[in-house]
Amino acid sequence: MNQHLLVSIAQEHGLPVYVYDASKITSQYQRLTQAFSAVKKLKINYAVKALNNINVLKIFKKLGSGLDTVSIQEVLLGLEAGFDPHEIIYTPNGVSMEEIEQVAAMGVQINIDNLSILEQFGQKHPNIPVCIRINPHVMAGGNSKISVGHIDSKFGISIHQTPHIKRIVTLTKMHINGIHMHTGSDILDVDTFLRATEILLDVVKEFDTIEFVDFGSGFKVPYKEGDIATDVEELGEKLSARFNDFCVEYGKDLCLMFEPGKFLVSAAGSFLTKVNVIKQTTSTVFAGVDSGFNHLIRPMFYDSYHHIVNISNPEGKERYYSVVGYICETDTFASNRKINEIRENDILCFNNAGAYSYTMASNYNSRYRPAEVLVKDGKAFLIRERETFEDLIRNQVILDI
Ligand SMILES: *Cc1c(COP(=O)(O)O)cnc(C)c1O
Repeated sequence: MNQHLLVSIAQEHGLPVYVYDASKITSQYQRLTQAFSAVKKLKINYAVKALNNINVLKIFKKLGSGLDTVSIQEVLLGLEAGFDPHEIIYTPNGVSMEEIEQVAAMGVQINIDNLSILEQFGQKHPNIPVCIRINPHVMAGGNSKISVGHIDSKFGISIHQTPHIKRIVTLTKMHINGIHMHTGSDILDVDTFLRATEILLDVVKEFDTIEFVDFGSGFKVPYKEGDIATDVEELGEKLSARFNDFCVEYGKDLCLMFEPGKFLVSAAGSFLTKVNVIKQTTSTVFAGVDSGFNHLIRPMFYDSYHHIVNISNPEGKERYYSVVGYICETDTFASNRKINEIRENDILCFNNAGAYSYTMASNYNSRYRPAEVLVKDGKAFLIRERETFEDLIRNQVILDI
């Protein structure tokens, strides 16, 4: 994003602040739909958990996207943003039967990922169409915390349990309208993904009522120069061809679905924070910022890399820094990072802060969550106010003791 604009947003709205670029969200969405333009029926369901601001959801609504949700609260946010229930798919893991029933009663497409709930739901509601989440046990890349397709994973119904799924469906006479997989967060090579696809399509063949096949997500995005990213165009070309052939074989134009989060919003986000202190120790120069893992936990939780730019001194001499937060625990955003000379009160910009950044923020150390700003058509709009002390104590019940 334009550095002058970011500096002016910092001046107007204060720091720390999250800034999202609507045009980048739009171009990522269009790139994905373009890559799959050979498919007759395509539906992209944006994964709300990546970034849940209602204004962002409204951008997706305008683009023609649906939503992928993992909790009833995300469903409510989607409805608030103006989505119809039938544009929302609900893919929870380990939630109660009651919550699934509530969401189904709203008219949202439910996706069930275990045999116990499938059997209970089928017995009680044989007429409500259900999608089934399959675990194809194809190991996708990435961090072990985000890889969810392996044999010991808690996600999905194992491909080896397909006979059991079929038995439940026959006995309950329930209606299965979709087959789904979500193998993990980083698809590093297209061939691995296509292998998982074959496994999934074999399951589709076992049912004659399928209307859509949902391939989940896991598009890897580049965080720094030289990073491997999912080749969306190559995936689009190969998977579309395979899918179109499969539809002929199946005898119906099925809908191909994806549910990306990171791919659609990661690069659109910037996180801006002020440098409180420069501290030179015997071995390191620390830049201590006015934030911490309470605002951006990905570097500590996933070891993820966020490129950091000193937007206050873009021409400054490059030096090596460790950028750390103010939390009273080790919270290192970056070690030995080459950054244009940092001075106290400079503004640092963390890139790729659109996905799993604000949504994972907390009040740890009794700090306020930051504001959020959306840049649209060159103008900046405040879309979430910074928290205040009122927010911190709102739900505390203060006893007279
Ligand atoms: C988190 C999640 C996604 C989105 O994953 P990204 O890596 O952000 O694209 C999609 N589907 C399901 C079921 C998820 O849990």
